[in-house]
Formats: sequence, C-alpha cells, structure tokens
Amino acid sequence: RFITLEGGEGVGKSTQLKALHAALAERGLHCAITREPGGSEGAEAIRALVLSGDDSRWSSEAEALLFAAARADHVEKTIRPALEQGHWVLSDRFLDSSLAYQGGALGLGVERVRELYRFACGDFLPDRTLVLVLDEGAERARARDTEGSDRIGGRSDAFHRAVDVAFRQIAAQEPDRVRLIDASGTPQDVTARLLDNLADLLP
Ligand code: C5P
Repeated sequence: RFITLEGGEGVGKSTQLKALHAALAERGLHCAITREPGGSEGAEAIRALVLSGDDSRWSSEAEALLFAAARADHVEKTIRPALEQGHWVLSDRFLDSSLAYQGGALGLGVERVRELYRFACGDFLPDRTLVLVLDEGAERARARDTEGSDRIGGRSDAFHRAVDVAFRQIAAQEPDRVRLIDASGTPQDVTARLLDNLADLLP
C-alpha cells in the first residue's frame, strides 16, 4: 500500500511520520519511508534546486514542472519498485502538496496541476492520503507561537491559509482517498486518528 502524509507547516507532520511508521512496523508491516520533494537520486537533486535560493528564483510554472519531474522519478525509481516487492510505502508529502501549494496557494489552479501529474505519473495514486489540519483556534495559537521568529519559509500567513483551504477542497473532491486528520491534542491522539483512517487497508 502507498500512504502519503500531508499538511501545512507546523502541524506536527515530522513527528507523526515517525510515529505512524513505528505503528505500522509494530503491526508487522515492512514499510519504506520516503519524502518529497526528493526520495530518489534524481528527485533529491531537483529538491536542492527548488528549495535553494529565494522564492523568486522560479516562476510558479517552472516550480510546478520541477516538482512534477521530481515526482515522476520518485515514483519510477523508488515507490513502484518497493510496492512491487510487496512493501508498504509512506511518503512525507506527495501529489497533494503540489495541488495545495502550486495549484492553490501559488494560483496555478488545482486542475492544471492535476494535468501535470497525469503526464508525469499517469493514473498512479496513493491508496490513502492523510492531511494533518488544525481548526481555526488551534491554528491561531500555532501562528502566535511562531510569531516574529519566522514567516515560515519566507511565505505570508495568507499563503499558508490558502494552502489550508486547498487541502480542504481536495479532501472534499476525493473523500475516499484523502482524509483530513485533526492535528490537535497529544501526539498519541493524532497517531490514533491516523491509524483509524487506515483501518480498512490494514491486514
Ligand atoms: O515537508 P516540509 O515542510 O519540510 O517541506 C519543505 C518545504 O517545501 C516547505 O516549505 C513546503 O512549503 C515546500 N513545498 C512546496 N510545494 C510542494 C511541497 C513542498 O512549496 N509541492
């Protein structure tokens, strides 16, 4: 099975990635962990290109194409081979980050970014996508905690709100594949919610 974990900045994605990976291993599943942008030699080289320099280095279109190129390589070289060996694969970000960041927040349009994905990866899709989200109150608290220290990644609050809105729209479009997971509470609470949303896929 191919599972992807998504979410905006500061929702505890890294912590949950490790916890979910451990929980799957505990159930006896061999699960490879990978990430985007990156996850294969070629895609990691593209990651270095995309994440270096300031935000104005690439046009939105160029950025979306670089992410799509990285993803094509990641799927072909890393994800498909692992799935073919019968392993589970858990990816830190995948298609839905491109839909939300480049399609939604950068304004290219979710449908246009879906088209790029189809060119890059055909009809391959995750079996399930778990999107960590915070409701408005918890999100305000998070923003307060990080205030001043950073406009995360140099991007504005409006940008991060647009990412959040886009993730919610995508989940509404594909409710079977894409699940919104409440990221509030203890890390253990959140991991339990993630596992609940994988229950039908677990052996
Ligand atoms: O997963 P992580 O939060 O470390 O992501 C690395 C950076 O890449 C983040 O700043 C995220 O906003 C950005 N990103 C992006 N578009 C994607 C995937 C990630 O702008 N499709």
